Amino acid sequence: HRELLDLTCRLANTLKKYGIQKGDRVAIYMSVSPLSVAAMLACARIGAIHTVVFAGFSAESLAGRIMDSGCKAVITYNQGVRGGRTTELKATVDEAVKSCPSIRHVFVAQRTDNKVQMGDRDIPLEEEMTKADSICTPESMDSEDVLFMLYTSGSTGKPKGIVHTQAGYLLYAALTHKYVFDYQQGDVFGCVADIGWITGHSYVVYGPLCNGATSVLFESTPVYPDPGRYWEVVQRLKINQFYGAPTAIRLLLNYGEEWVKKYDRSSLKVLGSVGEPINKEAWQWFYQVVGEGRCALVDTWWQTETGGICIAPRPSEEKAEIIPAMAMRPFFGIVPVLMDENGEVIEGNDVSGALCIAQPWPGMARTIHGDHQRFIDAYFKAYPGYYFTGDGAYRSQKGYYQITGRMDDIINISGHRLGTAEIEDAMADHPDVPETAVVGYPHKIKGEGAFAFIVLKEQTSRVDHIKEELKTIVASKIAKYAVPDHILVVKRLPKTRSGKIMRRLLRKVVTQQSSNMGDVTTLDDPSVVKELMDTYQKYKEKSSS
Ligand code: AMP
Repeated sequence: HRELLDLTCRLANTLKKYGIQKGDRVAIYMSVSPLSVAAMLACARIGAIHTVVFAGFSAESLAGRIMDSGCKAVITYNQGVRGGRTTELKATVDEAVKSCPSIRHVFVAQRTDNKVQMGDRDIPLEEEMTKADSICTPESMDSEDVLFMLYTSGSTGKPKGIVHTQAGYLLYAALTHKYVFDYQQGDVFGCVADIGWITGHSYVVYGPLCNGATSVLFESTPVYPDPGRYWEVVQRLKINQFYGAPTAIRLLLNYGEEWVKKYDRSSLKVLGSVGEPINKEAWQWFYQVVGEGRCALVDTWWQTETGGICIAPRPSEEKAEIIPAMAMRPFFGIVPVLMDENGEVIEGNDVSGALCIAQPWPGMARTIHGDHQRFIDAYFKAYPGYYFTGDGAYRSQKGYYQITGRMDDIINISGHRLGTAEIEDAMADHPDVPETAVVGYPHKIKGEGAFAFIVLKEQTSRVDHIKEELKTIVASKIAKYAVPDHILVVKRLPKTRSGKIMRRLLRKVVTQQSSNMGDVTTLDDPSVVKELMDTYQKYKEKSSS
């Protein structure tokens, strides 16, 4: 902690030297490392607002976030290192800041020994930090001053800058870290999330550090250099709480138990799952194989907007039952309610509805940067007086909560949230593709994948070529993980008489629920359903042959 403070103060003084002040916005485009944590804390120390952008996002995504938040500076690495590959972080920043006039400086740290081109506004970070004072008095902040913002997908094409403030967020991150994971002083807490997502903010950086914990930073992937990597780290660092994503568990269970059993996991006390629904098979494997049936496994439900965990099996009475693959119990102060289609609260048990939260809690987001009306519209309009999560949930016979999935056009790919509209907007740039509709479909490892339906301007023999071009466009406008797994050319999309695309029907097509199409009377031409089913069937047959 002493070293981290030293690093943080030197970095904070460097930012100050280059004119960064309280209230200024700073983008952090770095892989997970002690220095990137120090970069977040350095901003916090001087009252600047950090916006971490996941280092897998493209230059265009980075530029969009920088412009929306009006960042004055970017902190980055020359290169990133992940799973045996290097990525060109500085080059991506160079590309991004070309269109960002607000950026005055780019601070460049060295993650590898390779030289990158340095321009007029680029500052070698470590070099400046060695010259900087190691004492930096923290700025006094109001409890409701902004601590950070973090962009996340909404149901429109434009990501939203979710704003979290000082006291409430920190209190909530610290409390949930302590009680959900039963953190005890001296424990080594291992959350393998990236700092580019809210889980990294709350359970790699702020929650554990508020509690004086030792927090593990994981820069790699679960399968590099081999599928035993997580458990090798658990053994070597004697991790007590291990918190990860279902997608990684689903991937690892395919490699077999020997990769787990090779390593000593006796230090583990609590296992956690986050970011997406965990299926029963993955839950059981995590619980039985990794945790040897003796560690509590907590499926934690929460969102970028909630700041910290809202529903999880712990805390609870000692030894209270944990039901596989269920988030179960609300945290202190969280009052979940289920709503029906008419906006009425659903009482009783064994019921499903839209998941809302009935009263505010310390960690909740305060606004969307620059667009408070969008904040109100997205979260408080559907059910006046309640926070609407966007998720559906089931309340069991015993009163426990189970998340059933998003109720809007947001999909969850490998635990990363993405609006289908963002993918559609990106693909709209292709001159030969006038119409697209993207839906999520169940994917064995990723949880969900993106399936794109496209309409071509005219018949062409370049179909495969166009599909590749579309994939390249999505990767360069958003990120690689957003690229659809499937692109299917159709004659037309299912539309209502008022011209709205019925994505609900497309979801039924890709999940092959033709007998259960629901109400299609509002369709402009109901014969489109059969047409789509036939095209999909042919595509399936072709791809399996
Ligand atoms: P994000 O803000 O990117 O963390 O995404 C939040 C969304 O991820 C939620 O609205 C849910 O749809 C999904 N999610 C997060 N945790 C869980 C969980 N434990 N079970 C089911 N869905 C989850």
